[in-house]
Amino acid sequence: MNLTGLQFLDEMEVGEKSVFLRADFNVPLDDGVITDDFRIRKALPSIAHILDHGGKLIIGSHLGRPKGERVTAFSLDPVAAKLAELLDCEVILPHDLMDPSLGTLMEEMKGGQLMLLENLRFHPGETGGDADFARHLASLTDCYVNDAFGAVHRGHASVYQMVEHFGRDNKAGGFLVRDEILALNRLVDDPASPFVAVMGGAKVSDKIGILSTLIDGVDAILIGGAMAYTFLRAQGVEVGSSLVESEHVETARKITERARARQTELYLPTDHVVARRFNASSPDEIAVVEAIDDGWHGLDIGPRTSERYRSVIESAETVFWNGPMGVFENPLFCAGTNAIAESVADSEAHSVVGGGDSASAIRAAGIVDEIDHVSTGGGASLEFVQGKSLPGIEALRPNHPFE
Ligand code: AMP
Repeated sequence: MNLTGLQFLDEMEVGEKSVFLRADFNVPLDDGVITDDFRIRKALPSIAHILDHGGKLIIGSHLGRPKGERVTAFSLDPVAAKLAELLDCEVILPHDLMDPSLGTLMEEMKGGQLMLLENLRFHPGETGGDADFARHLASLTDCYVNDAFGAVHRGHASVYQMVEHFGRDNKAGGFLVRDEILALNRLVDDPASPFVAVMGGAKVSDKIGILSTLIDGVDAILIGGAMAYTFLRAQGVEVGSSLVESEHVETARKITERARARQTELYLPTDHVVARRFNASSPDEIAVVEAIDDGWHGLDIGPRTSERYRSVIESAETVFWNGPMGVFENPLFCAGTNAIAESVADSEAHSVVGGGDSASAIRAAGIVDEIDHVSTGGGASLEFVQGKSLPGIEALRPNHPFE
């Protein structure tokens, strides 16, 4: 991505201005308790910078998919409490996004104080990219900072339309957004070879774009997860009752052919952890097999495949990983994903893990520090690597033509 013209937070005059920071606090919750605060911690450098420079800060974020309505389970209350704990300061959270007194509340705040808005997606105008909602948010502050990398691929009101209301000197990318761009640029612009991509997850349909792009740029692709079964079916291999996207078998066949033509090695699992039911709960219900019989589901890559993939990763200079190797939420089917996490962590390669489930696996294994870059954005990192235009970043450019 071209950085020309993009301004980042440390180049913007914060002074005693008021600043709107779009953050990505879309954190996993279990009964109102934050189970992973990675995204909140990643926003702290930008928050601290603004507060330390005397700025009055309003933070806006989304959480989950409340679909334009107030849903208590998606309230940012737990995030406000976590922020107060991490920053050791008071965090005001007014519950009405459209409250006409928000402006007054803002004026009464002092430099170095912060207010967190309620979940922006409680208002239908957020995902709808509504101009009035964007104008309302923009009216609250002098400056705008986007540090929500996980949302930059969305043309949502607080990510895109709102930015139109700020002049070139008053809009900037946050430190997290900058780190993400630099790390992903290194992957896209100048990857050291051999470059190995590890792709997993449920759906080929979600990953067709990225697979097609990667085939041109990488030396090897290791495939796992349910996606592998659509590829195996395309090669005429029996996959029993494993998840196959029948309508994408042909696509998988074409991707395989293209890989062959470009001499990109495409690896598929050669053994599998299988069970008769998806939510098996006892080790007696699972087996490791090379051929999957009818009535059995492939739910993780087998140990031989993990070892084979490890040796490919070991010889890599650059590794990009997206998507789990199996149904890793179930401890019976997490070994393959954990083995890949460890292989990536142990490798000397420049390693980047692209958001979502693979990043959770890395954090659950406690090996975040062994990875060069763990992206906070799943969809955003995939779109970035495919070279797609990201509305939230384009909006920050000085002369961006808003429609
Ligand atoms: P994605 O969002 O495409 O990265 O997919 C992640 C989901 O894929 C996780 O919830 C996994 O449980 C699921 N998954 C991975 N491997 C399999 C498999 N072999 N069969 C069914 N689901 C799988």
